[in-house]
Amino acid sequence: MEPLLKVSNVSRDFVKSLDLVAKFLNRLGQDHREEIVHAVDDVSFEVFQGEVIGIVGESGCGKSTLGKMIAGILPPTEGSVHFKSVKQSEDDRPEALKTQMIFQDPFSSLNPRKKVIEILTEAPIHHGLIKASEKRAFALEMLNRVGLDSEALGRYPHQFSGGQRQRIGIARALAVSPELLVCDESIAALDVSIQAQVLNLFVQLKQDYDLTYLFISHDIGVIEHISDRVIVMYLGRVVETAPIETFVEKPNHPYTKALLEGVPRLEIGQRDYEPVSGEIPSPLDPPSGCHFHPRCKFSNETCRTVRPDLIEISPGHYSACHLNTSE
Ligand code: SF4
Repeated sequence: MEPLLKVSNVSRDFVKSLDLVAKFLNRLGQDHREEIVHAVDDVSFEVFQGEVIGIVGESGCGKSTLGKMIAGILPPTEGSVHFKSVKQSEDDRPEALKTQMIFQDPFSSLNPRKKVIEILTEAPIHHGLIKASEKRAFALEMLNRVGLDSEALGRYPHQFSGGQRQRIGIARALAVSPELLVCDESIAALDVSIQAQVLNLFVQLKQDYDLTYLFISHDIGVIEHISDRVIVMYLGRVVETAPIETFVEKPNHPYTKALLEGVPRLEIGQRDYEPVSGEIPSPLDPPSGCHFHPRCKFSNETCRTVRPDLIEISPGHYSACHLNTSE
């Protein structure tokens, strides 16, 4: 089966410019150089129509940067992203509309000076998906899909609660008939009671409109609830991917096990993993070999010097750990 999304050896670097002090010291003869953050490092995976892929990892692991590259908001430094075999780009082509991103903070992603009716119809009119004369009926239909009523049409973003604003953000994404939604911590900023409602809305919309999701979250509980497959990232690299049942019941990578240990469970006591300890190293100077080695109780000399490959250890289950290849 042809994948809906194909991410091939994608990397993204950011250059940290010199501050004024460093520039001044350079004039005095010192040698301060720009630093490079390897936010995403050689990531490859495929997503198939109708799947929900959870992308999980601690803050700074590169999951949001990866999401932006998939949505065409950021170009990769290396590698490529293909949607239905068409290379993703930042331009205005109709294919680009098929992938939409929903952000954590809907307030900052909605234009505060525009009424909801304008927010929901601007892109569809611009791309010729609807006529200007149809915009009221169209906007009402979009609001209906996300559980908001017609009163919202003439109001501004600041007049809504956080949960309502996120629903407007979702409606705006749906307005261009996407096939893939990249949801970046899309419920993280909401109250816990509202999180469940918006998560259920995502589940319902997926069923109603045959959507495919990339669901980025630091919250393992959310990932477990919604995902078919999980990708675990650490310091820019994929360290494990697995179907959701395998991820929960038979995680392989020591980092995944440590992440899972941090999730409160009723069946607590049935696990013998240890929670992740130590600080996340700086992405400006990531550890050599396996990035996780300073925090891993199994690390050995090979781990400190050789990057482990992501290898298939059972059908559909990949892990990047030397323990899987050592004798
Ligand atoms: Fe730990 Fe080594 Fe596996 Fe990395 S490769 S997770 S350091 S055992």
